[in-house]
Amino acid sequence: MRDVAFNLPFFYGSISRCEADEYLRMGGMTDGLFLLRLCLRSLGGYVLSVVHDLKIYHYPIERQLNGTYAIAGGKSHCGPEELCEYYSRDADGLSCVLRKPCIRPAGVEPKPGAFDTIREHMLREYARQTWNLEGDTLEQAIISQAPQLQKLIATTAHEKMAWYHASIAREEAERRLYSGAQPDGKYLLRQRKEAGTYALSMLYGKTAYHYRIELDKSGKFSIPDGSKFDTLWQLVEYLKLKSDGVISVLREACNNPSQPADPVRPPTLPPNRQSVISLACNPDGYTPEPMGERRILPMDASSYVSPYSDPEDLKDKKLYLKRECLLIDEVELGSGNFGCVKKGVYKMRKQQIDVAIKVLKNDNEKSLKEELMKEAEFMQKLDNPYIVRMIGVCQAEHLMLVMEMASGGPLNKFLSSKKDQISVDNVVELLHQVSIGMRYLEENNFVHRDLAARNVLLVNQHYAKISDFGLSKAIGADDSYYKARTAGKWPVKWYAPECINFRKFSSKADVWSFGVTMWEAFTFGQKPYKKMKGPEVVTFIEQGGRLERPPECPDEMHELMQECWTYKCDDRPGFEQVESKMRNYYYQITQKPATV
Ligand code: ADP
Ligand code: MG
Repeated sequence: MRDVAFNLPFFYGSISRCEADEYLRMGGMTDGLFLLRLCLRSLGGYVLSVVHDLKIYHYPIERQLNGTYAIAGGKSHCGPEELCEYYSRDADGLSCVLRKPCIRPAGVEPKPGAFDTIREHMLREYARQTWNLEGDTLEQAIISQAPQLQKLIATTAHEKMAWYHASIAREEAERRLYSGAQPDGKYLLRQRKEAGTYALSMLYGKTAYHYRIELDKSGKFSIPDGSKFDTLWQLVEYLKLKSDGVISVLREACNNPSQPADPVRPPTLPPNRQSVISLACNPDGYTPEPMGERRILPMDASSYVSPYSDPEDLKDKKLYLKRECLLIDEVELGSGNFGCVKKGVYKMRKQQIDVAIKVLKNDNEKSLKEELMKEAEFMQKLDNPYIVRMIGVCQAEHLMLVMEMASGGPLNKFLSSKKDQISVDNVVELLHQVSIGMRYLEENNFVHRDLAARNVLLVNQHYAKISDFGLSKAIGADDSYYKARTAGKWPVKWYAPECINFRKFSSKADVWSFGVTMWEAFTFGQKPYKKMKGPEVVTFIEQGGRLERPPECPDEMHELMQECWTYKCDDRPGFEQVESKMRNYYYQITQKPATV
C-alpha cells in the first residue's frame, strides 16, 4: 500500500522541514513554489511547504476523522492532490496561491517513513502470529484487513522497539542510561505507573532528564506543551529530528536488554478470538463498536479457518457425518423451498462448532434430495474464509446439510434493520469481502448463479460469507460458461442479459449479480426494481435501463456497479478486476497511511 500521494511529482515523502527548505531553495524560491511532504506527527497527515516573498511557510494538512484532508481552518478535500489543486486556484487563507510545483529532482523517490520499510513484513508476521494463519488464508486476511492491521500495528509498534523499556522505574531508567557510553541525546521510553502515561528519559551533559508523555482525550501523545502525535514511535522519530520541548534531539537509543534489537518483530496482542466469538454470537450478529478497544476482525471468528484445518479433526473428515455428533436446536434460522434451516452444534474430536443445518422437509421427493446432495457435493470443493463452508451431510430422520453458522443472517435483512448503526464504509468492507469470495470462485471455475444480498450471510458486522450454492455449477475445463438446459425458477432481477437470452452462465454473469448485490447493500436492503415484474425488468435492461444510484452510494461504487452491468459479457470486468477495484476503494477510505 503506497501513500496516496506517492505519484505526485512534488511529493517528497518523509523529509524534515530543513530538507524541504533546501529543496525549495534549490528550486529558486520563486513566489508560489510549493512541495508536499508527509507530516512527521500525525498518521496520514501531510505538510504543504510554500514560498512567498522569499520566506517559506509550512502548513500542516490533517487527515480528519471522516477521511478528508484539510489545513486547519480551511476547506476539506478528499485527498492531498485535490487539496493542492484547490489552493492552486485560490489562496483562501494561505500566504499565496500555489503557482509552481517544486518537482523532485531526477532519481529522487519520495522518502519512505520509518514505518513504511517494515510495514509489509510486519503485517504478514503480525497476522501469522496473532491468528496462527498460513498460506492462502493468511494472504486473504491481509488483503481484506490491511488497513485495520496497519492501524493496529501503528499504535502498538513501540512495544517492539529497542528503545522501549516497558514499565521500569525512574531509578532503573537512569541506571540503564548511565551504563556504558553516555553521549548527549541517549534516550529510552518507559511506561509510568499512571495508566496511559509514559516517560521519555534522556541524557544530556551526563545528566538524566525525564519528560512525562501524556495521552489526551483525542488519543494523541504529547510532552506537556509540545507537539501532539498519533503514536509513540512518531513522537520519538520526530524528536530525533527536532528538540521540540526537550533538552536536545534524540540521538542514540538506549537498548532494552530484554528487547531483541530487531524492530521487525510484530507486537503481540493477546489473541482474543475467544472473547470475540461470544460477542459475535449475539443473536443478530451485531455488536456496537467497542470504545477504545480494537474492533472485531474476520480473523477473530473461529469460522475464519476451516474446522478441518486441525489435523486431528481432518482425520475424521468424510462427506457423511454421524448423527450422534449433531445436536439440533429447535430454533429456525430460515426456511426455503427445500425445508428449513436450524441451529445446532457439531461435536468434533477437538472442538464443538456452531452449525446451521439445512433440513429437507420431504425426503420422499427424489428431486429435492438430489438437489440437496448436489449442493453438498459442490460445497465440499470450496474452502475460503469468505464462503460458508459445509461441514458435511447427515442422513438421519431427514437428509441434512450441515454448514458453518453465520449468526448475523442475510445481508439485506441485517442492513435494513440496522440502517442507522452501519456506516457506508462498513458496507464497502463487507462487499469487498464478497468480491474476495467471488474471485475465489472465478479462479476455480465455479459459477454461483444466485448471488444476491439474501445469500450473503454475516458472521458479524465486519465479516461476510457467500452462501446458498443450490444453483451453483462447475464449468467444464474446455468451457467458459455453463449452459442451462431449460430456464427454471430463476432470480431474473439478478441475472445478466446472456443468462436470460441464451441460458449462458459464466463468472461474468455472477459479476452482473454482484452489481445488483452492491445496489441492495448501498440501499440498506431494498428490493431492486421494486415496482417491476421479472419480464418488465428484462425489457428495461434490454432498452439500456439500469438501477439508479442509491442516495448514500459513493460515486466510485456507483461507477463500479455500472461496470458490472455492462451489457456484453465479453466487455464486462471479471472478479479479478472487481475485487481489485473494491480493494482500492476500501483501502482508500479506511487507510490512515501509517507513515511518518
Ligand atoms: P434457499 O436455497 O432456500 O434460499 P439458503 O441456503 O439461502 O436457502 O438458506 C435460507 C435461509 O436460512 C437463509 O436466508 C438464512 O436465513 C438461513 N441460513 C442458511 N444458511 C445459514 C448459515 N450457514 N448460517 C446461518 N443461517 C443460515
Ligand atoms: Mg437463499
